[in-house]
Amino acid sequence: MRWRGNRQSSNVEDRSGRSTGKIATGGGLGVVVIALIVFFISGGDLGAVTDTLGGNSTPTTYQTTPTTTKDYTEQKEFASVVFAHLEDYWNTEFKESNEPYQNPKLVLFTDSVNSACGPATSQVGPFYCPADQNVYLDLSFADELSTKYGATGDYAMAYVIAHEVGHHVQNELGISDQVDKIRNRVSTTEYNQYSVRLELQADYLAGCFTKYLAGKSYQGQPILETGDVEEALTAANAIGDDTLQKEYQGYVVPDSFTHGTSQQRINWFKRGYQYGDLEHGNTFNEQNLDLAS
Ligand SMILES: [Zn+2]
Repeated sequence: MRWRGNRQSSNVEDRSGRSTGKIATGGGLGVVVIALIVFFISGGDLGAVTDTLGGNSTPTTYQTTPTTTKDYTEQKEFASVVFAHLEDYWNTEFKESNEPYQNPKLVLFTDSVNSACGPATSQVGPFYCPADQNVYLDLSFADELSTKYGATGDYAMAYVIAHEVGHHVQNELGISDQVDKIRNRVSTTEYNQYSVRLELQADYLAGCFTKYLAGKSYQGQPILETGDVEEALTAANAIGDDTLQKEYQGYVVPDSFTHGTSQQRINWFKRGYQYGDLEHGNTFNEQNLDLAS
C-alpha cells in the first residue's frame, strides 16, 4: 500500500508505553468474560466485539511495566493513515444514504489497555468496544500477524483495522445492538451463529473499503499496490476459526465458531471487494455462508 504522505487521522489516541495498573486477566477469555459481565449489568445493550485472534484461554499474568521498547513510529503512522482513509470512506457512504455517522477513535497501545468493555492485554488482539466506540490496536500485532500467522505485508494490517472499523459501522447501523439483544434469549451454539454472521459482515465491509481504496490515488499513483488484496486474503485465511482451532487444539468444533471458517472469511471479503455496497453484505439473510467461490 502506498501510504506515506497520506493524511493521518486526528482521531488517534496513543497510549503505547503506558501502564494500566495491576490487573491480571486470562488472555482473550478474560475480555470475553468481562464483556459478558458488563453486558449483564447494563441490561444487555453492551458487549465488546472481541477479535480474539488465536487467543488461547491459558490464564496469564502480565507485567505492569511495559516490556517493549521497540520504536513503533512507522506502525503508528500507518495505522493513522489507514484510519483516515476509513473515515473518508464511511463518512461519504453514510452521507450518501443520509444517515448520521460518528467517527470512531483508534486507541494504540502496547502490553495492556483499559476500555469501557474492560481491561485487555495485547494477547487479546485488536478489538472494538461499542461502549466507548473505540478500536483498540496493540502495536505489536503487525509483527504477530506475520510471524505467528504468516500474514505478511502492510495490507494484512490494513484489513484488520478495516474489519474493526466494520464493527463500528455495524454499531452505527444498530446491527450489533440487535445481535446483542438476541444473546440472552438463545443457546451459546445458536448465539455463535449470530456472532459468525456479525464477523463475516465485518470482513465484507473491509472488502468494500478495499474496493474504494482501489479507486484512490495519491500524487498520481494508485494507493493499492499489486498484492495488497492477496495480503488481506492471506490474513483472512489465517484467522479463520477452523484454521486456528486446527492449529491450537488439533481438531475443529464448528459449533464453537464465532468468526467463521477461513474460506467464509475469504469469500465475504472478496464479495465486499466485488460489490462495495451495503446491499450485498447482509450475512443475516444468507442461507449459505460459504457463498460460491
Ligand atoms: Zn471482528
